[in-house]
Amino acid sequence: MQLRTLAHLGDSRGKRVLLRVDWNVPMERSRIVDDTKIRLSLPTLAALRASGAAVIVVSHLREGATGDTLAPAVRAAGRLLGGRRPTLVRTAVGSPTLLRVCRALRPGAVLVLENIRRYPGEERNERAFARTLAALADVYVNDAFAACHRRHASVAAVADYLPAVAGLLLQREVEVLQRVLEQPAHPMIALMGGAKIATKAPVIDRLRRSASAVLLGGGLANTVWAVRGYGIGASLVDSDAAPVVRQLLRARRHGAVRMPVDVVVGDPSARGRGHRVVPVGPRPHVICERPEAVLDIGPATIRAYSAELRTAATMVWNGPMGWLECSPFHYGSVMLARVIASRASGRAFGVVGGGETLAALQQTQMAQYIDHVSSGGGAMLAFLGGEALPGLLPLYRTGA
Ligand code: ADP
Ligand code: MG
Repeated sequence: MQLRTLAHLGDSRGKRVLLRVDWNVPMERSRIVDDTKIRLSLPTLAALRASGAAVIVVSHLREGATGDTLAPAVRAAGRLLGGRRPTLVRTAVGSPTLLRVCRALRPGAVLVLENIRRYPGEERNERAFARTLAALADVYVNDAFAACHRRHASVAAVADYLPAVAGLLLQREVEVLQRVLEQPAHPMIALMGGAKIATKAPVIDRLRRSASAVLLGGGLANTVWAVRGYGIGASLVDSDAAPVVRQLLRARRHGAVRMPVDVVVGDPSARGRGHRVVPVGPRPHVICERPEAVLDIGPATIRAYSAELRTAATMVWNGPMGWLECSPFHYGSVMLARVIASRASGRAFGVVGGGETLAALQQTQMAQYIDHVSSGGGAMLAFLGGEALPGLLPLYRTGA
């Protein structure tokens, strides 16, 4: 199976392209806090314009986002593109006016539709809505890797009504993550932390087949301890994940999944004032009691995990090792982020993804050394967990 890409589009001159991007940027009021997602979408947008296509941009904004309008994103895209600002149209999808506007687009023009989640048909993946959307264009380009795990109309159903290909960002994501799954440079070490073990367990499971070690931390490690009968006080745990954890514990017997050997505990309500390091033994014991909680990995674990990461030819990291938002419990995550960034771009191939994981990486000011910073948190996990992503399936050509 081969991913269809821009190269398969043929001559785009005079064609109207429906381009799905992810401009769901973090905002405070109507100020964009981080424009990375917009920047990442520009190469495809530029390539399409240069080929003489007119582009109709589609993106979602998460619920509750300021005014749920894409206006700030469109302004930012205009600044980044330099020169002509894309036009945000407020005319409803399905109106004859919009159809007329789209048909009249000149080569190189860029039109942006308002937040696609304003339409109830989007999240329901309604075929009628997808068909209406598709009627605006001649071809469909999906460059929103971060949305590909969602069965939504502008990602999934729309591709049934137009020739569909992957944009440059999406193509790179698939190529890199596929390589990590199928032919990584060995040894591969995966570092996994964060909150939701249920979404991460399939990834741990899949990676440990080819990884020489999967290093656990954060809420993931807490949940494993809770299931095994350790006392962990008020620690963050994913209480729904017991069955998944049992499966992981079986994996542990293979020796591929490693647990922290010490942790930093503290009272979360003290917000960083007062904390101590506690060793963690191989047999269940009380690590801490309420109101204390396990809030970070400890120094011995940082040392051990760093040593493992230094043996790797491929490093994959998702999920903070501790309470990232509260100093000093960000320490374990940031230390290991530095180790990964120091080894990446040369000695090892480094892949990092996840919302809070990227926030930890930013704190190191070394993100530029990471070989591949994934634009998709949930989508990356779904892909690495071996799921078939609803947004990717239609982009594959069978046979040839
Ligand atoms: P990502 O978005 O990078 O995949 P997650 O969403 O799974 O990461 O989890 C990140 C969150 O988990 C962060 O807000 C972090 O503070 C929290 N976290 C991780 N470990 C702990 C811990 N031991 N105690 C409290 N919070 C934790
Ligand atoms: Mg997150």
